[in-house]
Amino acid sequence: MGTHPDVVNVGHMIGPGASFKKLPNCSCRKQHDKCQFWKNVEKELNKLGEPKNLYFGLHFNSILEKRTVFNRLIVGGLIFDRIERLRNSIVKNYSKYYEEIKRIKKRNIRYIEAIKKVSNKNIIIDSSKDILRLQYLMEIPFLDIKVVHLVREPQGAVSSSLRRAKKRNKGSKSLVWTTLRWLLYEKKIEKKILNKIKRKNQYTVIYEDLCGNPLLVLDEIADQFGIKKGKFTTDYNPRNQHIYGNAIRIREPEKVKRDMRWEKEFNQLQISTIDFISSRYYNKCKRKEIVLD
Ligand SMILES: [Zn+2]
Repeated sequence: MGTHPDVVNVGHMIGPGASFKKLPNCSCRKQHDKCQFWKNVEKELNKLGEPKNLYFGLHFNSILEKRTVFNRLIVGGLIFDRIERLRNSIVKNYSKYYEEIKRIKKRNIRYIEAIKKVSNKNIIIDSSKDILRLQYLMEIPFLDIKVVHLVREPQGAVSSSLRRAKKRNKGSKSLVWTTLRWLLYEKKIEKKILNKIKRKNQYTVIYEDLCGNPLLVLDEIADQFGIKKGKFTTDYNPRNQHIYGNAIRIREPEKVKRDMRWEKEFNQLQISTIDFISSRYYNKCKRKEIVLD
């Protein structure tokens, strides 16, 4: 999306996170403190009175740094919406946690302002995928937030999770549990994000359709959100952008293609099992995409 002349893509706006010993390079291949874009953003932030924070300091989860049960109960997302609302109303008025959330909200607003000014563009793509972060940003009334909900074919999503779990030797290797976890996560997005924003401010994209015809799907997103159509290109080069996020951001540009490794990895029974658990939800997402066409 960052190839559009009106759009600036910063990748994961929350930055690389404090777990890094030193900041990884920007996608332009320069070190963070040598990259002119981020240097200019920092200058703008100084003007706005924001203190320097090497790791951006935009992540609402930083409050949960000490991942104690108490901290999670105080500010984390809860499964039941009603209980979460009740919890918020109780804690809001006197908790130091909410002061901290207010401060991080302000910092996010100032970061957005600084990025807009430096890039001279009004539309920022933030690919951070944290639900809690989006929930808090949605509470800021003057941010015009549009959500692109990217859904991957369940077989592809499950196979990728299983591969990652195997590689790291960490996480569940059970196909049924991994599929259920995918479904639960999707349901959480639906309940906590999509059901709370207007239809005109959200667009569901099926990953496989995006890979099949990226320019068409990008134009559909543009159309939905009132961005000029016909301006995206496939001439994407991360070196011309200033992106933080996972390693894909610095990979040399290659043709977008659909990942079909799962067809070889799963047998018929496994494919049907994933289908049995996920097809109702996945078909609903596909219909949503069509309805908005
Ligand atoms: Zn850069």
